[in-house]
Amino acid sequence: MRLCFFDDYRLGVVDNDAIRDVSEVLDEIAPQRYPFARDDAFIAHLPQLMPKIAAAAEGKPAIAPTRVRLRSPVPNPGKLIAAPVNYQAHLDEAIADPGTFARAHVRRIQETGLFLKATSALAGAGDGIVLSHPGRRSDHEIELAAVIGRRCKNVSKAEALSCVAGYCIGLDITIRGPEERSLRKSPDSYAVLGPWLVTADELGPPSGLQLSLSVNGEERQRANTDDLILGVGELIEFASSFYTLEPGDVVYTGTPEGVGPIRPGDVIVARIDRIGEMTLGVRE
Ligand code: MN
Repeated sequence: MRLCFFDDYRLGVVDNDAIRDVSEVLDEIAPQRYPFARDDAFIAHLPQLMPKIAAAAEGKPAIAPTRVRLRSPVPNPGKLIAAPVNYQAHLDEAIADPGTFARAHVRRIQETGLFLKATSALAGAGDGIVLSHPGRRSDHEIELAAVIGRRCKNVSKAEALSCVAGYCIGLDITIRGPEERSLRKSPDSYAVLGPWLVTADELGPPSGLQLSLSVNGEERQRANTDDLILGVGELIEFASSFYTLEPGDVVYTGTPEGVGPIRPGDVIVARIDRIGEMTLGVRE
């Protein structure tokens, strides 16, 4: 199943390039009392909601995805976890770049570990990217993003994929410079998630997925998830050895080689096999 949020956080199911509005299913989520759970209530309830979503979609009019504003398919994630350098060719590129200020940051992922992006940085495909600190260079990074479906801690890589609700295309937009990653990668709109969530049962194992990103029609990044240094299961094993992972937490799995600057007016097209494609504008 492909699920999206659009416009004023309407819930949609995406099938054959059409969205059907199934927002009434969200009423099935019981209201919470303070203090609220730290998870994303929609993702936490997804197993119960999926049959209701399928039933609600029947007979609904088809809406063209180009006619709506696509929002983040996970509206309230508790954590945005990200892998720093997780493709060998990107590691080589980062080490060779004379403009890499904080060379100490560029090490193997097993040594560097993971980092967090602010949840306020979250944006959907329809929101676009608003450049922060326009005098500085911001780069595009396309990544496969895995959305956690159930609470877990200390899971093995063998069990890890069973904790995934689904997958999205992630863009880990980054200001280049010497500060901590969590600062440079967390301005508003610098954590793109979209265009929709493809549930894990529909996508299958996240291996062999070709990913690519172009800017103004020119291809900048192309890679395959088979070339990840730590695969999705290993990343979740690693992350869950530090953090309790909760429904809706997002794991950005790292970007391949070819990162480059984005400027106002640029149009980014990002695509990943079995997920789809999204087009985003960049503005100041
Ligand atoms: Mn990244």
